[in-house]
Amino acid sequence: MTDVEKQADAIVHAVVAVELLHWHGKLGGTLENAFRKCVYSPALPRLQRLTNRKDSADDFKIDMKTGRKLSRPSRVHDAALEKQFTLGYAFTDVALRALCRSDNGIWLPLARYQARKELNLADVEPEEDPQAKDLVAFSQGIIRSGSEELVQVSTRSVGHGDAKQNIWILPVFVDHDRSSHAERQALLVLLEAAPIDSVSEGVKDGVTGQMRVYASHTPCISCLSSMCQFTRCFEGADIQVTYDTWKETRRWIGLDPPDEIPSEEDEAEEK
Ligand SMILES: [Zn+2]
Repeated sequence: MTDVEKQADAIVHAVVAVELLHWHGKLGGTLENAFRKCVYSPALPRLQRLTNRKDSADDFKIDMKTGRKLSRPSRVHDAALEKQFTLGYAFTDVALRALCRSDNGIWLPLARYQARKELNLADVEPEEDPQAKDLVAFSQGIIRSGSEELVQVSTRSVGHGDAKQNIWILPVFVDHDRSSHAERQALLVLLEAAPIDSVSEGVKDGVTGQMRVYASHTPCISCLSSMCQFTRCFEGADIQVTYDTWKETRRWIGLDPPDEIPSEEDEAEEK
């Protein structure tokens, strides 16, 4: 193993350990502090800079006179973010709060219901590790121009896909291509209906909006980054995010009944 591989391996182990302890209500103390220091704290400012055009202008080398982008990256190139595939269930929430993207969850029951319904319709197996192509993101959104409502989406479930790309909402590459993930696609699908400025390539000035996204598993670092970038594409918008761990979601899907409890007669026969 190279040093880079060793480090990647250590982060996977750290995320798994933090997830397990948190699930059992035992996260705290040394491991939590170490994870905060080594994984969360270096990532947070890198996520923060993706929330607006000014802080991340360098990535595009924008010509101030014409607004032309001299560099057109196809993904976020950031060594700090490319180090870990996720911040895990507990710290993704901490990050969303710090980035003003968390939510009070009034709509969480509806989001869960709709997302789980889609997973059942698609016959997704409640396996221990979900496949990205099977996952679903629930979304709602409003786009307004002045007092006029241009778009209103009350319930929309989005899966793995390839919605129209936007230069301001780029994926992060960790281990593999994550550009098709459902949570990022949900953002892009809403933006397909927004008026886009041909020079800035973001949503036109003066247009405002709101978006809610629910993920059926903990968002990966690429999807979390995309949620940060949403406001640099759509400067007049707010975004709220909530999610479940896959461990929770998988309890609600799959139509196989549980194993039958053997009757007393069966047990007597066996003896
Ligand atoms: Zn993802």
